[in-house]
Amino acid sequence: MLTAHEIKESFLHLFFPHICVGCGNDILNDKNQLCLRCIESLPQTHFELSADNPIEKKFWGRLQIQSATAQYYFGKESLIQRLVHQFKYKGNKELGLQLGRLMGYSLKRSSRFDADVLIPLPLFPNKQKRRGFNQSEILCEGIAEYLQIPVLKNVITRPEHTETQTRKGRIERWKNVEGKFVLTDPVAVEGKHLLLVDDVITTGATLESCGAELLKAFSTRLHIACLCYAAR
Ligand SMILES: [Zn+2]
Repeated sequence: MLTAHEIKESFLHLFFPHICVGCGNDILNDKNQLCLRCIESLPQTHFELSADNPIEKKFWGRLQIQSATAQYYFGKESLIQRLVHQFKYKGNKELGLQLGRLMGYSLKRSSRFDADVLIPLPLFPNKQKRRGFNQSEILCEGIAEYLQIPVLKNVITRPEHTETQTRKGRIERWKNVEGKFVLTDPVAVEGKHLLLVDDVITTGATLESCGAELLKAFSTRLHIACLCYAAR
């Protein structure tokens, strides 16, 4: 026997079908944006299960990390690239949450990511204002559904360009702006295992400087998780 809620859901579904953003097929679960078939077709790295994976190697000799991973390989003109585009530039936050849940599921199955808190990599304030959200925050919220740990959104910031910086040389200015993060609330992360989250990792330079700033807090340990790995 169907419940009143199920009957209502079926009616709604009949008139407002819920379409997978990957393949356009009808999916039944209203919470999801991607169907199972699309999820299974994504190129998962399984890096979370192995030490010395390509993401961890990037940080060797540069940043003291406990573990690092990226969930998917980022291919050009691939499904995952389309999905990241939908999420970041078309503002499909529900899709971002689902991608975060997929990350959370993998991280939870691995014993190598014993974090206490999630830290989204901050955007420049102007960029966040234009986009309306920080994609890493959305990923964190999805991950948190599996790991059941809090998301700390205001412990580290990324200052905008300043007047004095525009007078400096181009390369120096780039270093100043790209590489600058400020830990505004060190007490909040003291003694904690942090999981720093970003959407796409290429060289790892931005994560490196953000991570180094986080490690200035007393007795913290650092893990890193990204949605995609864009190999070069
Ligand atoms: Zn699909």
